[in-house]
Amino acid sequence: MRPITAHGMLAGLDEIADVGRDRLRGGFSRSIWSTSELQLRIWFVERAERLGLDVEADRNGNLWAWWGPPGDGAVVTGSHLDSVPGGGPFDGPLGVVSALEAVARLQRSGFIPGRPFAVAVFAEEEGSRFGVACLGSRMMSGTIDPDRVRALTDAAGVTFADAARDAGLNPAHLGADPETAARIGLFLELHIEQGRGLIDLDSPVAVASSILAHGRWRLAFRGQGNHAGATAMQGRQDPLVAAARAVTAIRDTALSIAGSRATVGRIEVTPGGTNVIPSSVTSWLDARGETAKDTRLLVAEIARLSDGLAAEEGCSVVVTEESWSDAVSFDARLLERLSSALGGVPALASGAGHDAGVLSSVAPTAMLFVRNPTGISHAPEEWAELEDTLAGIDALETVLRSLL
Ligand SMILES: [Zn+2]
Repeated sequence: MRPITAHGMLAGLDEIADVGRDRLRGGFSRSIWSTSELQLRIWFVERAERLGLDVEADRNGNLWAWWGPPGDGAVVTGSHLDSVPGGGPFDGPLGVVSALEAVARLQRSGFIPGRPFAVAVFAEEEGSRFGVACLGSRMMSGTIDPDRVRALTDAAGVTFADAARDAGLNPAHLGADPETAARIGLFLELHIEQGRGLIDLDSPVAVASSILAHGRWRLAFRGQGNHAGATAMQGRQDPLVAAARAVTAIRDTALSIAGSRATVGRIEVTPGGTNVIPSSVTSWLDARGETAKDTRLLVAEIARLSDGLAAEEGCSVVVTEESWSDAVSFDARLLERLSSALGGVPALASGAGHDAGVLSSVAPTAMLFVRNPTGISHAPEEWAELEDTLAGIDALETVLRSLL
């Protein structure tokens, strides 16, 4: 076994523990093709090559590390290396590090895979730079229009096409990649749990049963910019007041539909001066529900309420869908195979989206969750105890032995 350092984390996680630390927000900020994310890609290539894996990048920026010759119908495991702004150390990297560690263990035991096998790293899983999550897997599987992706912009106005070119990709080649997709015989993603399910079940590991339907919407409020001192309180057209009222309405609406979640975690105020009534405000809604129908109902109600609240403030609002993911039920046969290989570990529904959900459109997919003792994710407090991460690798190794 590799030495475990004083941080109490897996060695592989320790190696990247200083990459992309965010002094301002806390935690890590590793957005796609930022200096830190590029550093993580280099780290991954070196790590994989040390294990004798052949690493290649596909035309959508995903990385593939092959143990033996690439081929169709492969067993693929992995996750992502990018993070949300100020995210935790485990969301994404835990799945990548565990996959490499499982390979190392299999190799040490003299195991030879009986079918093609790869460790994959998917690009822009969090959507923290370009706004749409799981872009690497969505483009590869052909479930998003590449013209739309090329035109997406980051906060600095850089298009995805330009950023991809800077990263060495050909923007014209972005999009559906049936050859690469055909190589995935099944995909298995190990991931830190992002809720309290395993705390409540008192178990270090679970398999995932399903993912909530979810999506992102942009709410663009427009009002009248004006002087904060010279404009009476009566008759103002303040889009931030409308947006703020909408935030509480969004919370209340989600509370009224069982199993729903709705969040506004990002808001941009224009022009953004202390003595200026804003002229426009953009807020982003993340909404999720147990079924697609519930989620659609939730968002329709939020749009209706936001419209009314904007009108009451003398403003307008335009609601635009930025992304959508149907609810996913993971492959029942694969789930059964995992559960029996692991001796009946619990199954958990996931409130979070994952590449494994997107890839269920091209191949059977499954997930393993590792207990998170804080129950907190997408924040610096996200954590996994060393024993639990080792239990996760044990489970992954066992499952890989069975699948390969
Ligand atoms: Zn993740």
